[in-house]
Amino acid sequence: MALISPDSLERVKQAADIVEVISAHTDLRRAGARWTGLCPFHEERTPSFSVDGQEKLYHCFGCGVGGDVIKFVEEKEGLGFAEAVESLADRYGVELEREQEDPRAEARRQQRRRLEQLLDRVAAYYASYLWESSEASKAREYLAERGLGEEALRGFGVGYAPSAWDKILVRGQQAGFSVQELHGVGLVQKNRDGRDYDRFRSRIMFPIRDRRGRVLGFGGRAMRSEQGAKYVNTAETDFFHKSQLLYGVDKAKAAIARAARAVVVEGYTDVLALHQAGVEETVAVMGTAITGEQVAALSGMVEEVVLALDADSAGQEAMLRAQRMAAGRKMRLRVATMPAGEDPAEMVAAEGGAERFRALIDAAVELNAFQVGLVLDRTDVASPAERDRALSEVAPVLGAMGETASRDDLVRQVAERLDLEPAMVMGRIVAARPASGGAEQAPVRAGAAPAPPRRAAELTSRERRERALLAMCIALPDEGREYLGRLTDAHLSPTGLRAVAWLREHPSDPASNLPHDDGELSGLITELVMLAHDEPASRESMELNFLLLEQRRLEGEIAAAGERDDYERRAALSRDRAVLVEQIARTQRVES
Ligand SMILES: [Zn+2]
Repeated sequence: MALISPDSLERVKQAADIVEVISAHTDLRRAGARWTGLCPFHEERTPSFSVDGQEKLYHCFGCGVGGDVIKFVEEKEGLGFAEAVESLADRYGVELEREQEDPRAEARRQQRRRLEQLLDRVAAYYASYLWESSEASKAREYLAERGLGEEALRGFGVGYAPSAWDKILVRGQQAGFSVQELHGVGLVQKNRDGRDYDRFRSRIMFPIRDRRGRVLGFGGRAMRSEQGAKYVNTAETDFFHKSQLLYGVDKAKAAIARAARAVVVEGYTDVLALHQAGVEETVAVMGTAITGEQVAALSGMVEEVVLALDADSAGQEAMLRAQRMAAGRKMRLRVATMPAGEDPAEMVAAEGGAERFRALIDAAVELNAFQVGLVLDRTDVASPAERDRALSEVAPVLGAMGETASRDDLVRQVAERLDLEPAMVMGRIVAARPASGGAEQAPVRAGAAPAPPRRAAELTSRERRERALLAMCIALPDEGREYLGRLTDAHLSPTGLRAVAWLREHPSDPASNLPHDDGELSGLITELVMLAHDEPASRESMELNFLLLEQRRLEGEIAAAGERDDYERRAALSRDRAVLVEQIARTQRVES
């Protein structure tokens, strides 16, 4: 494939006027060396969107998006990278040259295509096995009993995994795929003796696809009672990130656009049954709660999402995260209450069920009102202690809503039910808001799926410190090289790790070739480059930030040693910490 040459890319970026391009989407006002305005990517009342005309970068300090002019056109006009470059070249009169691409990138793409073909062929194999094998007759009966017709089952490519231990292992190799490739897509795993075997056996198989309809993995439902887990998914692979995927999105996306809403359910068969009943704007999450990443994925498609899942049992924390994500993205999250003991598939299988389901969806209430209602219903208002507990439970829910009229309504309702002054309820909301210092969050596993950008206020103190240090590494490249060498995995947050890897690879020009398929990373790098231009940098403040990260690392180790009851190690580490604290105090004196 002929690629646009790096030289042409550079000329497009130089020629394009980023301020002019962005001004078509939001009003920009000059503020010093920068331009600022309301963010065109999230709803806000005070501007946190900033454009650097010289560096030709944009960044939103509210929602974390950022990049160069090409990225902006990609995101805002819904174009692919090459199309965005072409459109800018056209507009600013740049002639594009093309060249043969880097053979390694081509090899990676080919490998990915091979794995996609593998998943596709396995999905086709499972599907034919469902319809043709006698072994799958129980599965066919089960699906028919659930009211699922052949057309819907074939449309979604539902299949059956044979009971044998090595069907996919053997057939995959016969088709020319290596055992390693079979592991890579999560179809084969090792037992305790190190022998390879098929992950899915005697299960109804639901291929899970991305928006473009490519199979990324599977969900498998057990057909025998002694099989252990009722549902098994593909393990997390380079392809398959459960928390980001929505089952059925490839089939639902057109209907979602037409209906201007998405319905989210819990089960694969619910999706099939609802599509069959004409509620085609339905997708499923693979868990009990919608994740922030799934909200982010839907927010690019639609502004209203109705959760027809058991919101009562979904974790409160998960719901709050989803709600905060939605509030920052102009999205309404509503909850439809399903009758106890009845799932959507059962409902629509009955006479008139589709109409009943639609009525429930239409009557859905705002997620935050739903959560507040849950708390109030459980509260014995005669007891002052109970009222206090209720207040502390609703405060974070109301806090996540931002300053809106519907929050004011809810505050009044809460005050009335608990017999309190609205001002007192408001006071608790303010007190419940995460302090700007930021409560430390549970560490994310390294290598976990990248989280969507978070608002600046949600950063932990470690993340703010590490960002400050990394920005200074850009501002002072010589010192930067040294500190990038000294930082280890144990010093850094998962996002920090990714930024450091990028800066080590692109020491002199971190923002000139942003990864266009990685919004999180390019937002982060843009932010760092812009911070580097703003913040005064010095060797002393770099050292101080480094030492403070080192202190955090030591404290982590001390805690871990304590948990292992390794008192000797803990004592040694505590001595190191005492030395470090001295050193920090000295550095602070020099700096101030
Ligand atoms: Zn924004």
